Amino acid sequence: MALIQISEPGQAPEPHERRQAVGIDLGTTNSLVAAVRSSGPEVLSDEQGKTLVPSIVNYGENGIVFTGDSARQRSVSDPLNTLISTKRMLGRDMNDLDGLGLHLPYDFDKHDGGMPLIKTRIGLVSPIQASAEILGAMAMRAEKALGSQLDGAVITVPAYFDDAQRQATKDAASLAGIRVLRLLNEPTAAAIAYGLEKADEGIIAVYDLGGGTFDISILKLSRGVFQVLATGGDSALGGDDFDILIADWILGELQIDSVLDPHKRRELIEVACEAKVALTKLDMVDVSFSGWSGKLTREAMEKLIKPLMEKTLRSCRRTLRDAGLKSDEVNDVVLVGGPTRMPIVQHDVSEFFGRQALSAINPDHVVALGAALQAEILVGNQSTDNLLLLDVLPLSLGVETMGGLVEKIIHRNTTIPVSRAQDFTTFKDGQTAMVIHVMQGERELSNDCRSLARFTLKDIPSMTAGAAKIRVTYQVDADGLLSVSARDMVSAVEASIEVKPSYGLAESDITEMLKDSQKNSRADVAARALREQQVDADRMIEDLGSALRHDADLLDTSEVEKLRALMFELKDMRASCTDHRLLSEKIKEVGEASEFFAAKRMNASIKSALVGRDLDEME
Ligand code: ADP
Ligand code: MG
Repeated sequence: MALIQISEPGQAPEPHERRQAVGIDLGTTNSLVAAVRSSGPEVLSDEQGKTLVPSIVNYGENGIVFTGDSARQRSVSDPLNTLISTKRMLGRDMNDLDGLGLHLPYDFDKHDGGMPLIKTRIGLVSPIQASAEILGAMAMRAEKALGSQLDGAVITVPAYFDDAQRQATKDAASLAGIRVLRLLNEPTAAAIAYGLEKADEGIIAVYDLGGGTFDISILKLSRGVFQVLATGGDSALGGDDFDILIADWILGELQIDSVLDPHKRRELIEVACEAKVALTKLDMVDVSFSGWSGKLTREAMEKLIKPLMEKTLRSCRRTLRDAGLKSDEVNDVVLVGGPTRMPIVQHDVSEFFGRQALSAINPDHVVALGAALQAEILVGNQSTDNLLLLDVLPLSLGVETMGGLVEKIIHRNTTIPVSRAQDFTTFKDGQTAMVIHVMQGERELSNDCRSLARFTLKDIPSMTAGAAKIRVTYQVDADGLLSVSARDMVSAVEASIEVKPSYGLAESDITEMLKDSQKNSRADVAARALREQQVDADRMIEDLGSALRHDADLLDTSEVEKLRALMFELKDMRASCTDHRLLSEKIKEVGEASEFFAAKRMNASIKSALVGRDLDEME
């Protein structure tokens, strides 16, 4: 009789038990799906052998939905029903979009809770729904190519995606019926594709220039473990912006300065894009549009896009500084994204880092391949200790404290998943509730940071100010999603919230927030110092006021008068003084002047406590 075999823990199960997982690179411009097959990771293609699927959806007549190339073909004849660049709109609101300066021809409906909805012939469509159509098409392609149902997928997102954008991506996946094993940052996926974990150690820069986003990530590799030291970039800069510059150049040559209709505009952008791609290999191309024709040289095009290239290198410099590194400390530079095929990009990036940038793996495929490798591990086909991945938080997370200050709980660039706790206390006697206001950003004052969520911890037992101990815990999971809980350590009452930020948060551009915090850091320090003194002043006014109300009989009238006068002086100063040092001196003065009163109150309460005990003992 044959014995039934049981595989060793961590060893790959039999082929028929294999779970099928894929990696999906949901790009702004193009999407890809890849899987690990017996020969290794592979990008899956359609019947024609095409691997890139344009991230485009067309809502056609009779409810037919086209995706990919067939949608792209309709983009010129039916621009209003053909949705492109929807990834840029994921998790954003209308205000954000206006700020991004997108050239989108759609008819937006602006009335729904800030999330942009696009009017199409099938009705209003959200960017989440459009992304779901693309993800669905990728899953279908995979199931066809692999001949089996999918058990799950790893979906990549730009390192710059904030909570709302990550959540929107997950929502799109579930709308498409895909189980998300994990969201993975695109640059991290690229590093995995290159198998860089096999090296012993090193510093790796991943330069990812896509159609609509630019990401630079500095990874540190030690003993086979990646750690993302810092991320940076620009969530609104990519190869499509090159197209726009070339299109504007064509308009200039044509001497047209009127606005083109959406149809013409799309056609012009297509012409510009073709010229750009052709110039990757050629020194000069013929360009024709609307009856005009001319020539564009590679040199002239490089001049047009030079300012954008410089912008990416400035991001690289800033991010290196965040990581505490100099460019010559980077051992490897990895190129990702279609535009990194351009000679000028390869040249400028290599020059900046002082070494030849790696481009051996197809820069279009590299992210999907890495995602597939990760999916294979997460779905359970390989031992998990193969690869340990660490990502980082793009912005600090904190809580608002008295005086509108922000206390950072988890600092920016901390590796995730992470959990951090800090204890807080009540500000007033008898306070039984506490508002936990969750903030994101680098600035010192809550007004300058972004509000992520707010909830209330209720039923804290009534105690004197400062006696309660409330433990606030921030937890960020591997996908970068945050949950916050607050717990009173004495009564164990607890409240928590999962931060699923509303789609569309004002001012969501992380670059701007960081720039802002650098620009304002000195002013912020002074503002913080003042706020801290103001909070101290408030506490002293509150304490002294309460003491005078309850125990004035311990003092003679002149003493009461003197303390009252001091209290009012402090109140005045709290309201008008902007110099934290002066305010601090006043607080000290009032504190010293009221010390004897505090001592008297202490003695009185000890006496009454003793009296109480005597009575108890007598009973
Ligand atoms: P995303 O990650 O945003 O989907 P991709 O990495 O697929 O973007 O890059 C898309 C961009 O790459 C587009 O702007 C496209 O025009 C550009 N691109 C693709 N191939 C080339 C090429 N050979 N030369 C220049 N640009 C290219
Ligand atoms: Mg990409």
